[in-house]
Amino acid sequence: MSKLPLSAAKDPMGAAIYEYHTEGKAAKLRVFSSQFDEDEIPVADLFRGFDEMPYLEKVALEMAQGSILDVGAGAGCHSIALGQMGKRATAIDISPLSVQVMRERGVNARAADFFDPTFVEQYDTVLLLMNGSGIIGRVENIGKFFDRLKVLVRPGGCALMDSSDLRYLYEDEDGSFAIDLAGDYYGELDYQMQYRNIKGGVFDWLYIDFQTLSYYAEQNGFRVKLVAEGEHYDYLAKLTLL
Ligand code: SAH
Repeated sequence: MSKLPLSAAKDPMGAAIYEYHTEGKAAKLRVFSSQFDEDEIPVADLFRGFDEMPYLEKVALEMAQGSILDVGAGAGCHSIALGQMGKRATAIDISPLSVQVMRERGVNARAADFFDPTFVEQYDTVLLLMNGSGIIGRVENIGKFFDRLKVLVRPGGCALMDSSDLRYLYEDEDGSFAIDLAGDYYGELDYQMQYRNIKGGVFDWLYIDFQTLSYYAEQNGFRVKLVAEGEHYDYLAKLTLL
């Protein structure tokens, strides 16, 4: 089912991106989760340049080649950096407000849902960054995710996705882990965002450890490679068709 159109009244992140783009500053983008205390996303971070990007994102942008799809592109920071590197990127996002901002920033952007079966173009590199596994939502959706990658990744191409192993959140002081193996996968979070008086709906956002990703990748006909690791249980994976 397509998430489009995401209405402006339900799109706090798009509103924050739009205000930062037009005003040069923004209010707090608040993040709620049933699992954690309230947090916030610094809106300026969504406008980061290459030099301000985390190491794993830089590696992904250096590796990206050919025609590139930037999935869930937000304010378009990765597409813009790719353009500055002389590379060709198309950005998609379910937020029409974000897409408008990206277009005004010169990005080739369109409002599209990664999971929309009518979106059928092929790319040499599909980029999923800033916990790109988030859009999978829950482990039970991972088959659909790989089905979509089979459509979008050109033969010989790849997907580059970053994620984190959230096990450190459950680590006890003695180094053991308090994870309930019979419960839901520990990387399945629910989020809700708010910007000014605009509150979005609750959505699922998946963080997946490399081993679990590898297991499902193989089950779904993909080879997965650990390209690089970050400083805090985060990593960049390269997915190619078997
Ligand atoms: N990649 C950007 C933004 C990350 S926030 C960056 O690194 O700064 C995640 C983005 O994914 C949001 O803009 C959200 O609207 C978008 N998104 C969520 N689900 C999506 C889907 N199914 N298809 C396309 N975009 C999606």
